[in-house]
Amino acid sequence: MAGSIDGHCHVGLVGDEFPSLGGMSQWYRKQLTFKIFLAFARIDPNQACDRVLRQATIETISTSTLDRVVCLALDPVYSEEGSRREDLSHVWVDNEYVLSLQGEELLRDRVLFAASVHPYDDEFAQRTAYCVERGAVMMKWLPSAQSIDLANPKAAEALIALAFAGPDGKPLPLLLHVGPEYAIPPADPRHHSYDYLSWSWLDRARNALRFSKRWHVPNLEAVHSNLEAALDAGAVITFAHCGMPYFASGVLGQVLEHSDFKPIKRYLEQYRDDTQSKGRCFADVSAFCTPFRKRYFSTLRRLPPNSLIYGSDFPTPIFEISADFEEAARDFRAILHGEFDRIVIPQDNLLDVSYRELQTAFPDHPMFTNLSKLLPL
Ligand SMILES: [Zn+2]
Repeated sequence: MAGSIDGHCHVGLVGDEFPSLGGMSQWYRKQLTFKIFLAFARIDPNQACDRVLRQATIETISTSTLDRVVCLALDPVYSEEGSRREDLSHVWVDNEYVLSLQGEELLRDRVLFAASVHPYDDEFAQRTAYCVERGAVMMKWLPSAQSIDLANPKAAEALIALAFAGPDGKPLPLLLHVGPEYAIPPADPRHHSYDYLSWSWLDRARNALRFSKRWHVPNLEAVHSNLEAALDAGAVITFAHCGMPYFASGVLGQVLEHSDFKPIKRYLEQYRDDTQSKGRCFADVSAFCTPFRKRYFSTLRRLPPNSLIYGSDFPTPIFEISADFEEAARDFRAILHGEFDRIVIPQDNLLDVSYRELQTAFPDHPMFTNLSKLLPL
């Protein structure tokens, strides 16, 4: 498909053969979530090693009909003092790994490099500049998994720096995970809420029920003031998944699961292309190819169309949502319950399935072309 880009694709290594290029904790490798990702990456869990993971990534991207795929690095956890803590990270992916995929003959010109540099690293500016020199088209942060508090002054400084970190002093767009996160657990369980841009009475109530395992209460005043300062300096921020819940929808969803859709909607309105603002905000629709999130499609259609970006979130589970809803919902529930024998994975290339399903739901929507206008391609 000419000009088609998937703006959100995960790659990774367990760290058995190439430990300098990424890793996953022993604990994580035993989790159901990891096994589900392997199933959707079409990898036998008994054969999950670096060589097989790399081969599967090459196979998926090279056989896809998409033109380009943004592959995401994920810097490990850093302490607030700035020390690198690969040992504490459940999942991390080195920038060099994504660069090495770009070097694969079969993937020539297909892989776009999303760098990840932790804002607590004293070398943030130097490492970011290095990645941009090597062709990074965006920066990826997953605050809970990386232990990034957006209220922290180092995060504030890095956010401002990103407004000028791209080629020729242009902004380097930040792909920021917001809202509930289930794929990669935080090193410190209290940091689940580092992905939150809102904290309602329901969050307070849910947190009270966690008793001694309470999450950090986000300092939202500082978080928003840091984001706005960067945007006013010209930063470009894409909020992943529109900050929406994953497992539940409707009224039940609001009670059971945190949502950051309201603040995201406000950012999209305030920093859209037809306003005077220097910075720009986008939101991606990654991991929306599920029966429950399908219920939000009418809400997505009411957002500024030039603010949405297509992405798959591969290898997050996807479903043929344009087919029978009940069937898709049944498959989705099988995943939630870990019933592996009942999980139905679409037959085709999953990057293609996701793209096709979203195109069916949003024919000719600018979400499929907005990223190509944003990136220096
Ligand atoms: Zn993701």
